[in-house]
Amino acid sequence: MIKDSQPQERGLAVVRTVAELRKAVSAFRMAGRTVGLVPTMGALHEGHVSLVKGALERGDVPVTSIFVNPTQFGPKEDFSAYPRDEEGDFDKLRDAGCRIAFAPSKDEMYPGEQLTTVTVAGITDGLCGPLRPGHFQGVATVVSKLLLMAMPDRAYFGEKDYQQLQVIKRMVRDLSMPFEIVGMPTVREADGLAMSSRNRYLSPDERTKALGMYKQLVKVADTVRGGKASCAEATATASQALRDGGFDIVEYFTVVDAESLKPLEHAAGPARVIAAARLGRTRLIDNLAV
Ligand code: AMP
Repeated sequence: MIKDSQPQERGLAVVRTVAELRKAVSAFRMAGRTVGLVPTMGALHEGHVSLVKGALERGDVPVTSIFVNPTQFGPKEDFSAYPRDEEGDFDKLRDAGCRIAFAPSKDEMYPGEQLTTVTVAGITDGLCGPLRPGHFQGVATVVSKLLLMAMPDRAYFGEKDYQQLQVIKRMVRDLSMPFEIVGMPTVREADGLAMSSRNRYLSPDERTKALGMYKQLVKVADTVRGGKASCAEATATASQALRDGGFDIVEYFTVVDAESLKPLEHAAGPARVIAAARLGRTRLIDNLAV
């Protein structure tokens, strides 16, 4: 019989409550293991799996949370339509070597009215911040809760959501939270399109057009790196190319400082070219290091 204080040798434990999560995590801790949290909204793909593998490579016991967080969706966004496939997600996590899946209900995450929120100023002023009011506050609050529920050594986030990664890093630093935040490279389809749970909304025609975003990011990164044009010139050309290539709205296409996310005219230090655009009903975001 497995004692409560001893983790199972292998396999995925699915837990639904904070109490079960803490018990499962502490069993690994008692066995001398470190813990790596991978927060997700489910509908998992290879991008998410790479975060679990990142945790394994660093020797952490991977713990993945699956929670479609309502507070980070705007009233006109796709919360109810967001893809959900819990059984498929558990299979992927099991195959990847994840040990604990935390899939709480909304009431477990938010018992009663949530009067406390976490706001990260400054780096949320631009890019997705003004376009998705309340989004980063929802993200920072739910990630704080998940970190405090799991108390991991490290937490793993994708560079795919670059502004989110910077927001979390800054939050952990500013609030002296005792967790290391690890950013992991974006996993792409063979042709370069960044993997995203929302890619399944794309029609075959839109899927072809969607690749334009990656191609333009590569082009701008090359142009800016080589000093062949200013950031403003390169990104204006790229935005127009996206519209010509079938994107309906280019929300932003810009070069920013890699940490402060402030717009740059010339990329002297570490910089990121970053874009958001709409293709039909799908909103795509992506970015590259310059
Ligand atoms: P999501 O469930 O889409 O909110 O994402 C959960 C985590 O997976 C976040 O840290 C994302 O940045 C990360 N992620 C999503 N897509 C990718 C990708 N293509 N490559 C790497 N990480 C990703």
